Amino acid sequence: MEKLKLNLSFVIISMMIIVVLVTSSISIWISYQSFNEMLVQSKLVMQEEYIAEVSDIAEKYVQEGLQNAETEGLTKEKFKQAVYQVQKENVISISMFLKKVLLPLLLMLVIVFIFVLWLALKIARPLQEISKSGRNGNKIGSLQSVDDWYVEVSNLKNGMLKSIAESQNTIDELTNQLKLDSLTGIPNRRSMDHVLNKLITEKVPHAIILIDLDDFKNVNDTYGHTVGDEVLKAFASKMKDSVHQQGSCFRYGGEEFMVILPNTAIEEAVNLAEDLRIKQALAENPSGRPVTLSAGVTVFASTFSSPNELIAIADQALYEAKQSGRNCIRIVEDLSSVVN
Ligand code: GH3
Ligand code: MG
Ligand code: MG
Repeated sequence: MEKLKLNLSFVIISMMIIVVLVTSSISIWISYQSFNEMLVQSKLVMQEEYIAEVSDIAEKYVQEGLQNAETEGLTKEKFKQAVYQVQKENVISISMFLKKVLLPLLLMLVIVFIFVLWLALKIARPLQEISKSGRNGNKIGSLQSVDDWYVEVSNLKNGMLKSIAESQNTIDELTNQLKLDSLTGIPNRRSMDHVLNKLITEKVPHAIILIDLDDFKNVNDTYGHTVGDEVLKAFASKMKDSVHQQGSCFRYGGEEFMVILPNTAIEEAVNLAEDLRIKQALAENPSGRPVTLSAGVTVFASTFSSPNELIAIADQALYEAKQSGRNCIRIVEDLSSVVN
């Protein structure tokens, strides 16, 4: 069974109401008791003084010869009644108490209650906003707008903002890693598919160069896999420098690479590929001997609906280059024609 979770504002307000009610009831009762006690004491003093005075008067009556027993009896009876009346009025009446004590107290209670309610809501509101921000799409925006007027909420808000920023950084880092090739550091095939799809969907004219390093198996076999890796890294870096801002480079897989050149005519693409081929053929390699490349070049036609069609044509051109003895560039503009 799921554990019951109480709403914070409900808990705070209930506690405040209980505290206010209990303390005010106790204070009302205590003040009522002490008020009566004080009244009784002062009346007792008055009563004693009154009796003493009355006794004096009675004595005077006797001394002055008013010996009439009936008169004396009547007088004494009147005195007794007067004393009784005083005693009767010793305790304050409830209605008087309500009017004079309870009403002002209740008024004060209402004011205290409103203040406590306002304070409780003010304390609870930032926490409610923080809890709501978790369900919100724009977490950072809604967290930043939380009024962190007290230290605990401020710490909580800053802590959450910090952890969101850290998670975001981790997500960005992982997303980047997903897009990049771990060996060469250039974008991988997943990125290449994404870029090509976008260009083809948006019908942006572009050229592509599909590159394959020649006899690479032999490099591995002769110098070892580690040296082969170094050759791949060195080539990726050289390719990036040659293409520069003109387009983007990708590792297509193994020792195959792809260059995508948006808004580029086929002649420009061939020139770039040729430049790169010469640089690679002349460059010193970690293996100690030149590792040449072959490449197939093609351009986007508006009839293409998927990257695969374009890649198939570039692959055909690459195949032609390999067939022509490697270390050369070939162009195929569509599968029905081969241009040397
Ligand atoms: P071709 O000129 O016809 O392309 O011959 P090739 O030897 O380059 O082609 P093949 O497909 O026979 O061999 C490709 C080699 O590339 C085989 C594989 O071990 C190597 N290779 C693929 N990926 C890597 C890698 O990440 N590191 C290393 N060192 N070698 C790799
Ligand atoms: Mg290959
Ligand atoms: Mg190869």
